[in-house]
Amino acid sequence: MKLNNMYQELGISSAVYEYGETVLKDLRERFDAIDQTAEYNQAKVLAAFQKNRVDAACFAATTGYGYNDVGREKLELVYADVFHTQAALVRPQITCGTHALTVALSANLLPGDELLSPVGAPYDTLQEVIGIRPSPCSLAEYGVTYRQVELLADGTFEYEGIRAAINEKTKLITIQRSKGYATRPTFSVAQIGELIAFCKSVKPDVICMVDNCYGEFIDTAEPSDVGADLVVGSLIKNPGGGLAPIGGYICGTQACVDRCAYRLSAPGLGQEVGANLGLMPALFQGFFLAPTVSAGALKGAIFAANIYERLGFRCVPNATEPRHDIIQAVELGSREAMVAFCKGIQAAAPVDSYVTPEPWPMPGYDSDVIMAAGAFVQGSSIELSADGPIREPYAIYFQGGLTWYHAKVGILMSLQKMMEAGLVTL
Ligand SMILES: *Cc1c(COP(=O)(O)O)cnc(C)c1O
Repeated sequence: MKLNNMYQELGISSAVYEYGETVLKDLRERFDAIDQTAEYNQAKVLAAFQKNRVDAACFAATTGYGYNDVGREKLELVYADVFHTQAALVRPQITCGTHALTVALSANLLPGDELLSPVGAPYDTLQEVIGIRPSPCSLAEYGVTYRQVELLADGTFEYEGIRAAINEKTKLITIQRSKGYATRPTFSVAQIGELIAFCKSVKPDVICMVDNCYGEFIDTAEPSDVGADLVVGSLIKNPGGGLAPIGGYICGTQACVDRCAYRLSAPGLGQEVGANLGLMPALFQGFFLAPTVSAGALKGAIFAANIYERLGFRCVPNATEPRHDIIQAVELGSREAMVAFCKGIQAAAPVDSYVTPEPWPMPGYDSDVIMAAGAFVQGSSIELSADGPIREPYAIYFQGGLTWYHAKVGILMSLQKMMEAGLVTL
């Protein structure tokens, strides 16, 4: 049976399929480069598993306090080796990326300290954590002040503004690698390294934290290789490899990670408690698969940009520029187009493919949000998914796909639904 026929069975017309093949022809070289990065990162992860003598004993479930949990301890050593940090905190008790970032911030900032974002406003959910939008238990409520320096119009750093913003109270600098729900560029690891070097030249003892969400394994280096004291992310994004059902990670200096462990559990207890609840096989295996899963998602993002840019939609990043995360923003220009795109992603899912996504007021976001995902792990955005706030410029953020082939089906299906709604013609 021909591939084209198989796609037709999924609901993708030959016109859409052929259009996709035309776009793909030009992407072979870029895909080869992505495979090389994945190969390097696969070796890096494998080496960390072997060095730490991961074995079947690591997969045993622990309950209760979880004292002497060999699996948890080795998983954290593996993460620390891959990120080249002194320590790591990786566990299911970290419920999501926002929680991991909250732990890292609140553990390392005390009343009277100031937090600085030199890269403009942080991700929506972090705004309540910091207190930019007032919230009970925000850092602001605990007497931590906040400053932010906007990016320049071209998306680069405003170094003089950053120098002026760093003062005697500045304790921690937070750098968000990925664009999140903004249409600014995502930063490369090299750019982040330059920014950290600059900040440390102004104030050597300032803690530099990187929100690494969606950036893991896209490069052969991570922000911790270029001076970050803390790198933080979610296990239902890249590093969970699609298998982790929950969790977050914080990798960094021993001093910073120790504080995070005390904040996460309790002062005095720290890293010593936290049962793994039987999740170790998924967390280890997911991390092992993460380099190739992230590579597949990256191919999907590039494919999406090349499909939609040719049809006249602004894509961030654009069809040809280098990539530093797996997120693809496509400015669709209208609510209807966002809904049609998301219908396609949903219809392409292995789970919940029959449901229709609708915009809704999601907690933590200041406008209605539409989300399409039919994932094995609820809310997992390393799995094929699309979401975006219903506001100007009506940008949909597409990400994930546990395999490149599934990401491809998702994008073709989104195009199919856009076509059926009369929003594009091929
Ligand atoms: C996803 C994300 C977060 C928050 O992670 P959750 O797991 O959704 O809480 C924070 N920052 C960035 C850049 C993200 O992409």
